[in-house]
Parts: sequence; structure tokens; C-alpha cells
Amino acid sequence: MQDLVIIGGGINGVGIARDAAGRGLKVTLIEKDDIASKTSSWSTKLIHGGIRYLENYEFRLVRESLKEREVIKKIAPHITKPIRFVLPHVPSLRPSWLIRIGLLLYDWLGGVITLPKSRFVSLQEDFKENPLKDNFKIGYEYSDLFVDDARLVLLNAEDAINRGANILTNTSIVNTIRNKNDWEISLNTGETLKSKVIVNATGPYAVDVLNSLFKIKSKKKLRLIQGSHLIVNKIYQGEQSYILQLNDKRIIFLIPYLNKYTLIGTTDHEVDSYENPKITNEEKNYLINSVNEFIKTKICDKDIVWTYAGVRPLVEDFNEKASKITRDYTFEINDTLAPILTIFGGKLTTYRKLSEHALDKLSNYLNFPNKSWTGKEILPGGNIAIKSKLDIPENMIARLENIYGDKIYKLNEYFLKLDNGGEKISEDLYEYEVKYLVDEELVKTADDILFRRTKLGIDFPTNLKEKLNSILKRHL
Ligand SMILES: Cc1cc2nc3c(=O)[nH]c(=O)nc-3n(C[C@H](O)[C@H](O)[C@H](O)COP(=O)(O)OP(=O)(O)OC[C@H]3O[C@@H](n4cnc5c(N)ncnc54)[C@H](O)[C@@H]3O)c2cc1C
Repeated sequence: MQDLVIIGGGINGVGIARDAAGRGLKVTLIEKDDIASKTSSWSTKLIHGGIRYLENYEFRLVRESLKEREVIKKIAPHITKPIRFVLPHVPSLRPSWLIRIGLLLYDWLGGVITLPKSRFVSLQEDFKENPLKDNFKIGYEYSDLFVDDARLVLLNAEDAINRGANILTNTSIVNTIRNKNDWEISLNTGETLKSKVIVNATGPYAVDVLNSLFKIKSKKKLRLIQGSHLIVNKIYQGEQSYILQLNDKRIIFLIPYLNKYTLIGTTDHEVDSYENPKITNEEKNYLINSVNEFIKTKICDKDIVWTYAGVRPLVEDFNEKASKITRDYTFEINDTLAPILTIFGGKLTTYRKLSEHALDKLSNYLNFPNKSWTGKEILPGGNIAIKSKLDIPENMIARLENIYGDKIYKLNEYFLKLDNGGEKISEDLYEYEVKYLVDEELVKTADDILFRRTKLGIDFPTNLKEKLNSILKRHL
């Protein structure tokens, strides 16, 4: 008998699995595709307070998010990076005094912060290379944290497994039976699980899953808001990111990405379906035209290297403007028979607190220690102070360290086991990494490797995919 079965392997599902397993609960998580295969790998990749939410008076959310920024920086140092956002001042949109108050609040609301505080900047003088048009003279700079979103999910799943959780990917639920004290869950593998409680952490799917798999009608509604991103060849050389305020009061980000690209996003566009989100031409043009209003060198369609889109599962708060709908989370529990808790909304940034709050709710039904621990224990690979000799060629180490942290030493064992890394697949990818990912990181398909465990897929040569697939098959 399981204490807890969690449905959905996005950030919220794995966050709860990690926390619950660490408190000694028997946990199984069921994900129908790969870990982080939906919204949680399609984000802007910011662990942020969300400066614009201050304008919506969402002080609780911003405060919790800013505190979490510090915690996640500490528990995931290998996959996070402090960044500085430059906000060029557009006087017609917001007066300076309002921005200054906003930034003071942003520096102060989260309590003690280790990231540099905000400051006034001269756009022409304070940066080695200023990509902005000359009419933008002054601005402000503040800190946030950039994260590898898909790996944050994976590392939470891995830590949950290390603490005894069972994580089943590429597994579907075919039937559920609800009894007074437990659930029976039949899987497509033929197995049936029994569990005292279920957590429905299926993000955008939550209402439909509740309805179709559990025959429960939710009292809450979700608004599905698509956000799309462009990845273009690097627009400028500097390390700084930009937050651009548009005339429609929306904002978009320009963020240096993977040393050679600039990440541009995001849009806010209401959709009816969460299946296979794709950037529309309208969204693409909106992003290109908006950036071109600000930068000296114009970008166009042919600069785009890759695009991605995701659907935010936002709790309906009857706000007309998509960008103003709350990013906060809430729960719904149905306990007329064995209980099921459903998660609505949330952000990548707040997943750990959301998980703690979910466990608080579950303590009415399950027995476990009331201890908050997930903010103190570093995620797998995060002991980056460890340094010892590696056999992996020097030119590959930087990429691998940025992805795997101190797990690179385990990877090194695979490098040696496969006799100097095994077969070469592409300039950056060798057989030993594929085998490591299959054995250690729940990989089942080439896309799991190319787009979630690593980001090699952005410019991976199509003609090498067959080779990758055949090597992958050898190790599955
Ligand atoms: C464009 C965009 C930008 C964003 N940027 C940021 C940001 O910068 N910072 C931030 O903090 N937040 C950001 N967010 C929000 C954040 O990404 C989401 O809130 C978060 O990823 C949602 O996670 P989740 O676990 O609820 O959902 P998901 O990641 O979608 O996970 C749900 C999982 O459930 C699985 N599932 C569904 N049905 C079933 C079923 N029947 N059986 C088994 N499994 C099932 C799905 O396959 C999926 O893997 C952004 C969101 C978007 C869309």
C-alpha cells in the first residue's frame, strides 16, 4: 500500500514526491511521458520574485518567490546562475519614482538577499556593449536567478528516488477505483497500485484529469495562457539581460542563453487546449517587432534558431488581461471517500513551498513528521566545491559541469568504462553520456536527451539522430 500516488512529473509533482519521500512516506509518481516534458521545460527559466506582479499587488506571492530565490540558489548552485536585468526607462509608461519604489520593495520584500541589489544605470556608459537604441538613455538594474528548468525537475525526481520514491515515466493510468480508505489505480503496464491518498499534479491537465480519470467535477477553473519563446543567435555580447516594457504594458525578456544565443520571451495568449503548444505566427511577429523597437540591430525570421511554447495553468481569477491573472497557487481537496488533492496554478519558483503546503494539507490524512527539510538539503550534483581529476577531454568539461555539477565524477566513471567514452555521436555527444543518462536519469528517448537532460537538440544535426537512436537502443 502506498501512502501517496502523485500524478504528473512536472515541477510540482516531483517537488511533492521529494518532500514526501524525505519524510518517510511511501510514494509513487506516475508520469505519462517524460519527466518535465510539458510546461515545466517550456518556461522562461527564471527563479524570480516577478517584479511585474508588484503592480498587481501580489505581495504574498512576490515575497514567497523572493525567499525561494535564495533557497533554490543554495540547493541547486550547479543549475542556477544569478543574472542582472536591465530595465530601460520609458517615461511614457511608468514614472521613475514608481520604478524606484518597486525596485526598493523587490530588494526588501524577501528579507536577507545574497544577490546584488538594484541600482540606477546609464545605458550608454555602464555596459561594455549596449544593444539598445540611442534614445534609451537611463535605466535600472536588478537581480534574479536563471535556472535550467527541465533539470530542476529531474534533480527533484532523482532526489526523491534516492529517498525511496518510485518514479514511473511513460506510464498511463487506465482505471481508478475509489474506496472509503484507499484508491486502486490500474496502469497500462498491467500493475495495480493501492494508495491512501492521490495528488493530482498535472498542471494544465488538472481539471480534465480530475473529471475523466476520477469522475470528480472541480469547483475551480483553469485559464490556459500560452507563452512562447524565440531562441535567436546572440544579439549582443554582454552578460546582462534586459526586461523591456512594451506600449501595451506587457514586458518581454532578452536573456543570454547557452553562450551563443539570446532567449526572447514571452507572450501571454489565451488558448483552449494544452495539447502540443506551438508558437503562432502572430506571437513570433509580436516578439520580433517588440524587440526591434528597442535594439539597434534588427532581428528577423532567419535569426531564429529554435522556438518553444508552453501553457500556463493559471487559476481563474476573472481578470480580463492574461498578463494580470494571478501566478499564485491553490489546492482543492475532495475527501468524500479516500482523498485526492489537486493543484491549481503555481510557478517554477514556488514549487518547494507549494510542496510543503501540499504536505501540510495531507497531514490531515497521513502520519508523517512535521519537518521542513527540502530547503536545507542540496539537490544531486550540487556539491560543486568538490574538485578532483577528470579523464573526460578538457574541451567538454565546461558544458558537462554546467549540466551535471559534481555528478560529472559519476559520468567520468562511464567515460572510463566505455573505453574513452565509446562511440562519437556528434561534436558534443558521446556514447558514455547516453549510457549514463539511461542508467541514472530516467532517459527513454532521444528527445529526453536532446531537449530536457541537455539542450543539445537546439542545433543537433538531423542526420545524426538515427545514430543517436541506435546507440540509445543499445543501452535501454
Ligand atoms: C511560457 C511560460 C513561461 C514561464 N516562465 C516561468 C518562469 O520564468 N519562472 C517561473 O517560476 N515559472 C514560470 N512559468 C510557470 C511554470 O513553468 C509552471 O507553473 C510550472 O512549470 C507548472 O508545473 P506543473 O508541474 O504544475 O505542470 P507541468 O510541468 O505541465 O506538469 C504536469 C505533468 O503532468 C503530466 N500528466 C498530465 N496528465 C497526466 C496523466 N493522465 N497521467 C500521468 N501524467 C499526466 C504531464 O505529462 C506533465 O508532465 C512559465 C510558464 C510558461 C508556460
